[in-house]
Amino acid sequence: MSRLALISISVAVALAVLVVAIALAVKSGSFPYHWFFDVQKISPRKYVQSSDADGNAAHLRNIGVAQARVARYVGPLRSDPVWIICNSSECYWEITGNGFKASAFGSFLIVVSPRAHSVEFLAHELLHVELSSRLSSSAIKQVPAWFNEGLAVLVSEDPRFTSRTQSWQRLNCIEEYDEFFSQIAKDYETTYSMALSCVAPWFGKAGEGGFSKIIDLLNAGAKRFEIFEPIRANAISNAGNPPQ
Ligand SMILES: [Zn+2]
Repeated sequence: MSRLALISISVAVALAVLVVAIALAVKSGSFPYHWFFDVQKISPRKYVQSSDADGNAAHLRNIGVAQARVARYVGPLRSDPVWIICNSSECYWEITGNGFKASAFGSFLIVVSPRAHSVEFLAHELLHVELSSRLSSSAIKQVPAWFNEGLAVLVSEDPRFTSRTQSWQRLNCIEEYDEFFSQIAKDYETTYSMALSCVAPWFGKAGEGGFSKIIDLLNAGAKRFEIFEPIRANAISNAGNPPQ
């Protein structure tokens, strides 16, 4: 083997090790975000962008309220994500690369833009993380968009959606995330309210126990149709007919 080939292989191996190390650090929550982005670490697993002491305290308080709110619906939290609260859209964009107001990444990271500094947004993203943390990587793929998003709206108690009644509408429980997000771009209020209406009748009866049962069944290998179709069908019959 030539000297050049040896150097190339060594560099490739070193890069692969570096990529794996970064991925592991991100997943475990030990990645030093403040070294790479314009944020500061204010407590373990919590970062904010240039905020004063009062602002930091308010962010920590909001996170605590959001955690309590989600736990009230799904029981003691099992997730412990890293939180990054941005005060500028540049900060949010650099970290997430998307144009949403807030994002959850798997079971390990929540990033919030300046347009989402409220308990409702924090609780919404936290539900996504909590669901991911309770399901295996194959089980999470069985969860339709309407269930994940509808449950996030439900537990966030976001008055923008919970105060809207959808009973007169033709209920559309959107399965795929691509379609869900493209509908959000057109009319986010209706899309999120619809998702809430797909989940709420079931959760009203099943509650935390029903939620845990679904988690267990999915982790045991149950498929999307057998778990979620009865919930969707019940919501649609609950919604009744559109007005004549
Ligand atoms: Zn969401």
